[in-house]
Amino acid sequence: MNCHVTVDLMKLKHNAELLHKRCLENGITLMGVTKGVSGSEEIAKIFVDSGLEYIADSRVKNLKKLKHISCKKVLLRVPALSEIDELVQYVDVSLNSEVKVIRAISDALKHTDKIHEIILMVDVGEFREGLLPCDVNAAIEVIQGLEHIKLIGIGTTLTCVNGVIPDEKNLSELSQVANEISQKYKIDLQVVSGGNSSSYYLLEKGALPDGINNLRLGELLLLGRETAYGELIEGLYTDVFEVSIEVVELKTKPSVPIGNVGMDAFGKKPVIVDKGDQLRALLSTGLQDVSIDYLKPKDKQIEIIGASSDYILVDLTHTDRTYEIGDYVTFDLKYGAIMQLFTSEYVEKVYKK
Ligand SMILES: *Cc1c(COP(=O)(O)O)cnc(C)c1O
Repeated sequence: MNCHVTVDLMKLKHNAELLHKRCLENGITLMGVTKGVSGSEEIAKIFVDSGLEYIADSRVKNLKKLKHISCKKVLLRVPALSEIDELVQYVDVSLNSEVKVIRAISDALKHTDKIHEIILMVDVGEFREGLLPCDVNAAIEVIQGLEHIKLIGIGTTLTCVNGVIPDEKNLSELSQVANEISQKYKIDLQVVSGGNSSSYYLLEKGALPDGINNLRLGELLLLGRETAYGELIEGLYTDVFEVSIEVVELKTKPSVPIGNVGMDAFGKKPVIVDKGDQLRALLSTGLQDVSIDYLKPKDKQIEIIGASSDYILVDLTHTDRTYEIGDYVTFDLKYGAIMQLFTSEYVEKVYKK
């Protein structure tokens, strides 16, 4: 196939086992987040085999694909009213912030003996999803009257939209809310979830507040690093994924086009620098499948020139390697690229055992 993303499953397993071990030592359970890989079954299996306690994804459709894997499945995106029928079939635990939705979940299970578990999201400053701490008690009092709902924990999200960094202060607030709930309502909260990959550095520093007992990790497991806070964690592979794209045209052409330069295919004005004649390769994947901002050529002497919906154009002038038509150019991936490439049906996924 003209474009394939390769996953090194041994390296991924190493990352998952190492992170799981570090978390276990600190009394933290883990949710392995698969939304970056479209709920890949192969990757979910590695997470489960490595001891991760939950599989989590933002899409019900992805969790549905994983129904044969025996492990608790968590929906990370607060459920929409319109997806509740599917939710109660394929998801064990969901993150929630609206009483109206939680009530609808309970109603959907009315004629069954099933219980849906929920984690109530509490917003400690990022202002994405979650109840404000002052509204938590009122929500719990409604939830306690719902027959088919079990509150198993609370959680928070930071860093995602507004980039608020998780720290001892905002996560202590979450921990405090958990304490108050336990005391006031005599509920044993199995899960107090302190966020995503960007919270992990606090664990390494020994600064994760007492009471936080769960993290939801995606990027850190897959990439061995997270980009929001950017701390490198020692001992993790950062090259679990790569993409290879086939060369379909190879010609020496001038770097400056002839004619008036207008907008490119996506409405942007190209910036053109005169570099004389260039050996240019046209690669057979484009912006429909991946954004070039998230790609870095493995061969450091190759530069990306630009892309259209179906092609990526690279400069091979300065590389010592010889590329032929039919060869592949390989790139390292940022998280965004992994997500896009896994979503694209035009990209083959290759699992290296
Ligand atoms: C995506 C997501 C995560 C995982 O985030 P990473 O940065 O990939 O670790 C965790 N929790 C929620 C609610 C998410 O949406």
